[in-house]
Amino acid sequence: MIVVLLGPPGSGKGTQGERVAAALGVPKISTGDVLRAAAKAGTPLGLEAKGYMDRGDLVPDPVILGIMKDALAKPEHTRGVILDGVVRTVPQAEGLERVAKELGRKVDVILLFEIADEELVTRLSARTTCGACQSPFAGRQPGEVHAECAMTPKGTLVRRADDEPESIRNRLRVYKAQTEPVVAWYRGHGGNVQSVDARGSFEDVAARTLRAVGR
Ligand code: AMP
Repeated sequence: MIVVLLGPPGSGKGTQGERVAAALGVPKISTGDVLRAAAKAGTPLGLEAKGYMDRGDLVPDPVILGIMKDALAKPEHTRGVILDGVVRTVPQAEGLERVAKELGRKVDVILLFEIADEELVTRLSARTTCGACQSPFAGRQPGEVHAECAMTPKGTLVRRADDEPESIRNRLRVYKAQTEPVVAWYRGHGGNVQSVDARGSFEDVAARTLRAVGR
């Protein structure tokens, strides 16, 4: 089973994706997490990606298609996978279709998290992220130690460079210009697009999300 999470930055797709992954018993891959880890480790991939990410621009499609192809081919991902943050452009949707077909698999459901822009800006401006495990938090301050962190040493909460106001505005522009057309692409290609109202509490959205995947 392949589940694609679609939605603007701050719509909660990553957090809800964790819940779906646990409910379906399959792993979640976040291209953003893969790229941030690579940037932190200073690998060639990370160094190439960092500038795009800090500005809130998209990393070029061939880089993302490489990550996606490697991820889908991993034995631990053959039973199913939740794709968080990929696909973000029509060429990525076409690429995923091709790779899935080569592996005898298909995208089963596309979850589209919908929420108004004003709420996204408020959410992202208040977001901090654990520097070690990447968990996001609302209303916790940068510099705080993430006491529940499962990593050793435990992470400290930081504000992501791309959660600064200028970068947030750019990410929303990029979403509208490059990612929204992906929804129309899936609808035009027989994709099973399920809209999820992403407003409200985590539990409410989680219940809607699980219903959308038939749980
Ligand atoms: P995210 O954690 O999903 O918000 O991703 C953070 C950043 O990583 C994005 O703003 C992009 O710069 C980059 N990124 C992650 N996934 C993709 C993708 N599928 N295509 C292009 N860039 C991506």
